Amino acid sequence: MKEELAAIKQEILDGIKEKATSRAEAFELRKQYLDSKMGKISGLMKQMKTIAPEEKAEFGKSVNELKNWALEQFTALDEKMKKLELEKRYAKEKIDVTMPAKNIETGNLHPITQMRNQLIDVFAGMGFEIYEGSEVENDYYNFTALNTPKDHPARDMQDTFYLSPEFLLRTQTSSGQIHVMESKKPPIKILSPGKVFRSDDDATHSPMFSQMEGLVVDEKITLCDLKGMLDVFVKKIYGEDTTTRLRPSYFPFTEPSVEVDVSCFECGGKGCKLCKGTGWIEILGAGIVNKKVLENCGIDSEKYSGLAFGIGIERTAMLKYGINNIKMLFESDLRVLKQINDN
Ligand SMILES: [Zn+2]
Repeated sequence: MKEELAAIKQEILDGIKEKATSRAEAFELRKQYLDSKMGKISGLMKQMKTIAPEEKAEFGKSVNELKNWALEQFTALDEKMKKLELEKRYAKEKIDVTMPAKNIETGNLHPITQMRNQLIDVFAGMGFEIYEGSEVENDYYNFTALNTPKDHPARDMQDTFYLSPEFLLRTQTSSGQIHVMESKKPPIKILSPGKVFRSDDDATHSPMFSQMEGLVVDEKITLCDLKGMLDVFVKKIYGEDTTTRLRPSYFPFTEPSVEVDVSCFECGGKGCKLCKGTGWIEILGAGIVNKKVLENCGIDSEKYSGLAFGIGIERTAMLKYGINNIKMLFESDLRVLKQINDN
């Protein structure tokens, strides 16, 4: 019997030396001896009934000693394997900090989107809600309701893309004003950004461009409210030192109508190439909503008045970022687009 125990002991030592090269293998080996059902050492206990009664105590003690010894061996083996595997993993995952870094390219928003977001931020801060109209309009919403009937000479101011005698691509986001005023009663304070289309094409005009329309309708709205809002807008976009001035103009849907200039943010008003020596740069058209437009939408023009302004998003971006050809905004040239990142 003693020989048998010694043989098992030797077998374990040999196994540990030769077979165990990983934790999984060490676990399998341990099972061969210590598994409560299949293990060789557990099997020895079953032989108890064949042992002479006077030797039973001695035998039991020896088997227990062997079991404890084996447990120690396998626990130590497991620890060793664990350490080895960790070392292997560390070696594999070692980072060479002297290697050159991988260049990760990040994109940025398109300048028109950036400008649109900045404008929305400015006016949302003043309580404007966003209304996105539709790019295809009928003649009524784009012209007639905006006080521009069919024979009106102002229709010649805009070269329109007609889809059919009735439908067209909107030439201005102002068409959204009518939809809003038809469905909502004052007080109204909306901002309507979107694409507009005109048959017009040169360095500063594109057949498709973006506008942002602002409309406020409430009691006692005056030009002062308009000037106040636009002052906030130019200070946020072009700098704290800028201011606005209003010049008389004409649009069929506003009365009075104004062209809005911003004081030149390049020269501070002294006169430079950008402002063509005048100290002022024209940025947008605006005015007090024509009473006829309010009435077309069923709003009492005696009780309510409104202001409206239309900002060209490309133009605002071109001025701010010093871009002199509108095409540069549409050509998707990454060398240009990468330089403009305000967000
Ligand atoms: Zn200037």
